[in-house]
Amino acid sequence: MELWFTEIHTPNVRFSIKVDRQLYSYTSEFQRIDIFESQEFGRILTLDGLMMVAEKDEFIYHDMIVHVPMATNPEIKRVLLIGAGDGGAVRELTRYDGIEHIDMVEIDKEVVKACREYLPSLSYKLSDPRVHLHFEDGLKFVRTRENEYDLIIVDSTDPFGPGEGLFTKEFYGNCYKALKADGILVNQHESPYYPEDALAMNRAHQRIKAFFPICKVYQAHIPTYPSGHWLFGLASKQYDPLKVDLNRWERLGLHTRYYNTDLHKGCFALPTYALELLEHGEDDDE
Ligand code: SAM
Repeated sequence: MELWFTEIHTPNVRFSIKVDRQLYSYTSEFQRIDIFESQEFGRILTLDGLMMVAEKDEFIYHDMIVHVPMATNPEIKRVLLIGAGDGGAVRELTRYDGIEHIDMVEIDKEVVKACREYLPSLSYKLSDPRVHLHFEDGLKFVRTRENEYDLIIVDSTDPFGPGEGLFTKEFYGNCYKALKADGILVNQHESPYYPEDALAMNRAHQRIKAFFPICKVYQAHIPTYPSGHWLFGLASKQYDPLKVDLNRWERLGLHTRYYNTDLHKGCFALPTYALELLEHGEDDDE
């Protein structure tokens, strides 16, 4: 008998991974949490049936969501990390000795508990003394913060369910307020390929542009995400990621499996169809 994890990408497209066994399943107050073991991608975490992380390709996503902003401003000391319950972003952030404080705001403590037990290769740095875990809604948490962070990373689920509030104008405006004068906001920015993802990407981009003077989007190929073509947003109050001295990052001597400073320059060069989708967004009143 064969077991398969299948994610519905569109009504006409499904993505399946053959699994050897299911390691965990639990329904928290926020979502269904499943962890599977697979030959091709190692262990995979899904939330409400949607792929979150896979051991074999998570290095791509976590390299790109952390090292692009860190190379843009290697002086980053205080970080707000929203979502990120698997611990992968924390693992990469804690490689920087210059980072002094990380507030990690994850709405669902059950995700952290499951990842601590079944995904240690991602979650093993959650116990770093610089990491301060807050099990609450990132939308509410950021309302009370002002001029506090050098970097905010939004490593959230998609814009529905618990993650919906993390794609609103209110949230991005509060992120702007919570950032210092040279602060940077990075978010998982969905994808230009399938219509639903492209709409979410476009809405997020229009809303972020309403607050930040510098708004750029960069890309990576993530095999386990819908279409594989995944985007990240980088919004900045002062630093342009393409006009900084990347030798400062090189001098840190960090080895990264996906990110490098040539890729840093290249990943912001997007296909025409993605640029057109980003540029011709409809304003909304969200
Ligand atoms: N890399 C994955 C992706 O791009 O889809 C996301 C990984 S991480 C597992 C996403 C986390 O966001 C989940 O653990 C989820 O519980 C958390 N989350 C969703 N909505 C949230 C909210 N409003 N505040 C804080 N965390 C939230």
